[in-house]
Amino acid sequence: MSYSPLSLAASLEAAAVEFLAGPGNDNGNPLRPGEKAFGQPIFGYAAGADLIWETFKTAVDPAFLTPKMAFSGLNPEAMASELWVMVFVLPQTGKTMREHNRATQWPSEGWVRSRYAHPKTVDGLALRLVDVLAERGVKAVVPDLSPGFKTLTSEAFQIASTWSHRHAGFAAGLGTFGLCDGLITKVGKAHRMGSLIVNHPLPVTERDYGDHEYHKHCLWFNSGSCGLCVARCPVGAITLQGRDKTKCAAYLKITTPYIEATWPDLVGGYACGLCQSRVPCAVRSPKIPTQKFTPKVSLNKEPLPGIRP
Ligand code: SF4
Ligand code: SF4
Repeated sequence: MSYSPLSLAASLEAAAVEFLAGPGNDNGNPLRPGEKAFGQPIFGYAAGADLIWETFKTAVDPAFLTPKMAFSGLNPEAMASELWVMVFVLPQTGKTMREHNRATQWPSEGWVRSRYAHPKTVDGLALRLVDVLAERGVKAVVPDLSPGFKTLTSEAFQIASTWSHRHAGFAAGLGTFGLCDGLITKVGKAHRMGSLIVNHPLPVTERDYGDHEYHKHCLWFNSGSCGLCVARCPVGAITLQGRDKTKCAAYLKITTPYIEATWPDLVGGYACGLCQSRVPCAVRSPKIPTQKFTPKVSLNKEPLPGIRP
């Protein structure tokens, strides 16, 4: 059966809102049952045949999967022109942001709980949307939950993977990357994202940036101002040259003993995200200044060594 792109997207978005209103979006706080992990979602859509996917093979890693490649496990015959990518952004709640803005060394409870809820909420929502599509006779896959998904390491990119929700969001017009690597969307960069590849037309979202304007909405890149995420990082993993993913990942590991000691139900939990709070791009996309600032420190304005997923 065939649907209009707009009506199919409307069905998916309604199903997402319904899912997020239910227990799948509880943050698991035993003292405050029913507290939400995430706020209201936003959505973007990209065509599988968009040439931007090929550019990620250079910007991220040659192993980055195009939608056609990511869908091939389900149907190797599907053409790129028969595929669309739906991306959703789940912003942190206002309550979590108020808590997290006060954090300086360790993550706040709301942030940790939303990170811990990722499999139930973010993966759960993506799989719910696959079911909604299946009920309508439409095939879909969640790339990072499919067998072809791999994480990669390379000298240039440190930690990468064969699919990136943030790059999918960039392709789907949702936003551009900040100095700290987060995707700055209209609801900011304090969020978690998911995406799925759909074998049915969806309404493509226009991008308000060029295919290579990876950092258009970051104040550091567009005007030489801000840089506040550098100071927010407790371990110096962000510099004016970008984020050291290895240092960041090492810090995430050492948050586990703190999290387990503070909230014993969150066994194996890890989180940080301080660079995604108390900064101008945390909950909105900052207005691009008309004035350029002169950096007080020297900066290599060459592109960062890869746009990291
Ligand atoms: S805090 Fe400032 S420098 Fe860092 S990503 Fe946001 S806008 Fe860019
Ligand atoms: S998540 Fe934490 S450790 Fe990683 S870059 Fe951001 S502030 Fe630094």
